[in-house]
Amino acid sequence: MIDTYGREITYLRLSVTELCNLRCRYCMPEDGVCKKRHEDMLTQEEMVTAVRAAAALGIRKLRITGGEPLVKANIVGLCRDAAAVEGIREVCLTTNGTLLPKLAQQLRDAGVKRLNISLDTLNEEKFRYITRIGSLQDALNGLETALACGFEKIKINSVLIGGFNDNEIPELADLTRRYPVDVRFIELMPMYDSGDFGPEAFIPYTTVTERLPELIPMPADGGVAKLYRLPDAFGNVGLISPVSAHFCAECNRIRLTADGKLKPCLHSSDEISLKGLDYDGMLETMRSAILAKPKWHGELSYRERSHANRNMNQIGG
Ligand code: SAM
Ligand code: SF4
Repeated sequence: MIDTYGREITYLRLSVTELCNLRCRYCMPEDGVCKKRHEDMLTQEEMVTAVRAAAALGIRKLRITGGEPLVKANIVGLCRDAAAVEGIREVCLTTNGTLLPKLAQQLRDAGVKRLNISLDTLNEEKFRYITRIGSLQDALNGLETALACGFEKIKINSVLIGGFNDNEIPELADLTRRYPVDVRFIELMPMYDSGDFGPEAFIPYTTVTERLPELIPMPADGGVAKLYRLPDAFGNVGLISPVSAHFCAECNRIRLTADGKLKPCLHSSDEISLKGLDYDGMLETMRSAILAKPKWHGELSYRERSHANRNMNQIGG
């Protein structure tokens, strides 16, 4: 479907849970989330109905996200049902990777084609610091397992955090030489409660090209990342700049949260509820949400923080 500003909306990001087995400092509070009532969250059946309605409106790509999607009960069944929806060409999933040793093959068999694995550091102590409770080895085991499971594409996402991982840019980018993966550096977004991080932690995407002058520009692939490649690498280095160079004019996505709120724009507080609606109700509500998608998200900086009124674990990135 085409929105009010001529953008074709083809991509749905479905957050299947707000819960997570990690507590990344820029994403969620230390004490986790206060668990909402079960009846306030979308059921698995409602999620699949929403995907059917989205597909009827022209959504072709679905990304399952969270919270951590792999902590959700029956995530494999949900991916299988979503992949079987007519019109959905691609089911992708974003994960912190730690539960992939158990689930990667089942997800691939269920029809998940592509994986994004979040990994901000290759240092065990720093991993523990940034995730508050996680183990780097679990995430690396997840990556290794996924690489053996035949996914069409695996991308590693690293949030750029000044004073934390900017000294690891070469090492993280070098993963594209060690493995057949892309590595994408994403600017830190100033969310409602981005934990301990203030203006000094924000570093622009251009820091990566400054640190890695050997990067070779690559043709765009239709995604939001500016693409480069290291000599002799298997995959690309992508730079994603939601803060310093927004991509609202090309935004082709809508989001659906685990509690059933359609978000036409990541950084707006506008939400439209789907909870409790049947297929026809969801179809019409989704149509209005697409038409309500704003032209851009407004100023976004460490002075003008996101207006989303949610932390990232409650949206899905
Ligand atoms: N738990 C999964 C994971 O970590 O990949 C999926 C959900 S997580 C919210 C999705 C993505 O959002 C992750 O790549 C994470 O690094 C990113 N993210 C979370 N908070 C962010 C922030 N404040 N700025 C930029 N990216 C953020
Ligand atoms: Fe969990 Fe992902 Fe947020 Fe980290 S970024 S706390 S893994 S939802």
